[in-house]
Amino acid sequence: APTPEPPYLRGLNAEQRAAVLTVDGPVLVLAGAGTGKTAALTARLAHIIATRRAWPSEILAVTFTNKAAREMRERVGRLIGDAVEGMPWLGTFHAIAARMLRRHAELVGLQSNFTILDTDDQLRLLRQLIVAAEIDEKRWPARQLAGLIDRWKNRGWVPADVDAGESEAYANGRGGELYAAYQERLRAVNACDFGDLLLHMLTILKQEREVLSQYQNRFRYILVDEYQDTNSAQYLWLRLLAQERKNICCVGDDDQSIYSWRGAEVANILRFERDFPGAVTIRLEQNYRSTPDILAAASGVIAHNGGRLGKTLWTEATAGEKVQVIGVWDGPEEARRVGEEVEAHERRGGTAADCAVLVRAQHQTREFEDRFIAIGLPYRIVGGFRFYERAEIRDALAYLRVIQQPADDLAFERIVNTPKRGLGDKAVAQVHQLARARGVPLTMAAALILDTDELTGAARKSLGRLVGDIARWRDLAGSMAHPDLARQVLDESGYTAMLQADRSAESAGRLENLTELVRAMEDYETLGGFLEHVSLVMDNDAAEDAPKLTIMTIHAAKGLEFDTVFLAGWEEGIFPSQRALDEGGTASLEEERRLAYVAITRARRKCFIFHAANRRIYGQWTSSIPSRFVGELPAAHVEAETTMSGGESLWRANWSERADPFADVGRGTGRGPGWQRAATSGAFTTAPARVVESRVSAASFAAKPRGDISEGRRVFHTKFGYGVVAEIEGNKLEIDFEHAGRKRVLDSFVSLA
Ligand code: ATP
Ligand code: MG
Repeated sequence: APTPEPPYLRGLNAEQRAAVLTVDGPVLVLAGAGTGKTAALTARLAHIIATRRAWPSEILAVTFTNKAAREMRERVGRLIGDAVEGMPWLGTFHAIAARMLRRHAELVGLQSNFTILDTDDQLRLLRQLIVAAEIDEKRWPARQLAGLIDRWKNRGWVPADVDAGESEAYANGRGGELYAAYQERLRAVNACDFGDLLLHMLTILKQEREVLSQYQNRFRYILVDEYQDTNSAQYLWLRLLAQERKNICCVGDDDQSIYSWRGAEVANILRFERDFPGAVTIRLEQNYRSTPDILAAASGVIAHNGGRLGKTLWTEATAGEKVQVIGVWDGPEEARRVGEEVEAHERRGGTAADCAVLVRAQHQTREFEDRFIAIGLPYRIVGGFRFYERAEIRDALAYLRVIQQPADDLAFERIVNTPKRGLGDKAVAQVHQLARARGVPLTMAAALILDTDELTGAARKSLGRLVGDIARWRDLAGSMAHPDLARQVLDESGYTAMLQADRSAESAGRLENLTELVRAMEDYETLGGFLEHVSLVMDNDAAEDAPKLTIMTIHAAKGLEFDTVFLAGWEEGIFPSQRALDEGGTASLEEERRLAYVAITRARRKCFIFHAANRRIYGQWTSSIPSRFVGELPAAHVEAETTMSGGESLWRANWSERADPFADVGRGTGRGPGWQRAATSGAFTTAPARVVESRVSAASFAAKPRGDISEGRRVFHTKFGYGVVAEIEGNKLEIDFEHAGRKRVLDSFVSLA
């Protein structure tokens, strides 16, 4: 009797089956949007596990977002029942690299509890280095340097790889030097940025044969989704890991390569066939997602790009509506129309969760938010930071980071005077100075300084209290559940009280956010695990799956699908972006066109495309003209409607002359969460239980005393003036000051007189 077909093959077409069943050797699946690439990759994972070709822990599967990873894990679970023993290494490049790097951190000079910095911390750190290097930050912004360093890391370059030509791009050739200083500083505070996760692992795999072969042997099968958007560092990393067994399957679509601004190289598709000779290429041509009109519209636009690898797409679906192109008067009208269409969809029995508004750039969401709040339409903003980006959340996280990771100077800086605790800039500067002189973290420097008379009065008292609190919280972290600890820390630090005292409209929402933060922590077993999660979600997508209308950038929508899609702002200068227009070349314009292709192909049944005749930019009304992509839509598959009264002449506008307010999307441009955040009762208990100033012994990290001071030597101290050294004890000096009397000070704060 024939064996029954395993559930993960059910319904798959012949090409998809080949993609699932060709498990040995390199495989490249090259296919258009909605052809079931992700579905086939998921079935392949299920097949490998179900046929016991490998244990889950011997499989590496890379997805583009954390959400995609979660979905794939769930689907595999469903496909093979509960037979999954152990966990595959399933996640984004960043998540997987972070997990690996924790095991080998010491090989690149980090400890395994290293912090992953977000953009904010990164910029703060760079700014300090820029100032220290006496570079004019106004002329050479930290953001620009951050972008360069990112680019280098995406290429897999350590500072030594940056040549003079590249270095030239910042501060007259000082880019490379600052990159090196930045890496050094990151190591000193036991931290790394996103780019480092991969870069460090790449360094380790290149240098440590043992580690390399350990992973090469472990990963019997490697699976990669959205392959067209891998950057060089990611590619090199994959190639190293796959070199031994060569069982690697990558799926992608060159027409959907939309991250070149983040270093993605579509050439990796060609590289694959060269680096893995004998690779089997499989093409999927049947689209299962969209109606014929939607598919034809998308194909018609992308056909205007040159240098494509070329694919055929067809669908069995016959029914469907044409793509609706709607011209409106202005932004508010655009938002109003979308709201109406969503409500009409609900009246027909659908839900808002079937719909998505896709924008080119983050700033476009504002108008929709305003409108949806006004009509009470629940929405969520996906992509970017939102929740974890908020100031109060970042403050709370900084407290937790200081507890988790004593060397996290950036976190300490953030909380040292938040809430205000009477620590002047001078006191903080002294702690900094000592930390630098001794090469110790700020928390240690703070403790060290308290062991002397360097600080007095209020500054001394509050720093002492903070240092004591931190030490105590660290102790508690060992015994207390981390959500409880967080609650206690927020109360005892005075942070909750500060928000409660604040009568402003936002403070209630802030307290609610903190409640929400503590709630979110409960989903994680450890504080470290939670903090890691936060670092990772910041990089990409949002987690919650409530039935709400979604607003997101096209970039964030990659790989997703919705019944109804609203594409907003198809106007020259918005989409294609002003930046792409200014750059002029075909490369950036073609990338915009690929974005248009991605945008249209997210729709299953209905696709609306909007363009407005007028936009308000920085408070100024400007006329717009429809995007060239509107003109590229094949007329036979489109239904156009213009609701504006003005007619063509109004569209004649000098859009090319306006300033460029269109920052590209990406990390760091996320918006806050919508208004819909649950109105839970917010406040934490105000427990004023405080520990009186506790001195933390500084003896454990005594540094080398300086050799140039001896008893009887006359010295100068900035605060206490001139005096004579009476006693030396390590780096602490007892000095008889001419005016201040006998004081205990640190040798780094005196100069020879
Ligand atoms: P994208 O390029 O946008 O990432 P994709 O190629 O990964 O798209 P999937 O998301 O895997 O495509 O699939 C698109 C839709 O088609 C999904 O709803 C999926 O469930 C469905 N689908 C995939 N394969 C089949 C099939 N053989 N039969 C029926 N439906 C399918
Ligand atoms: Mg996909």
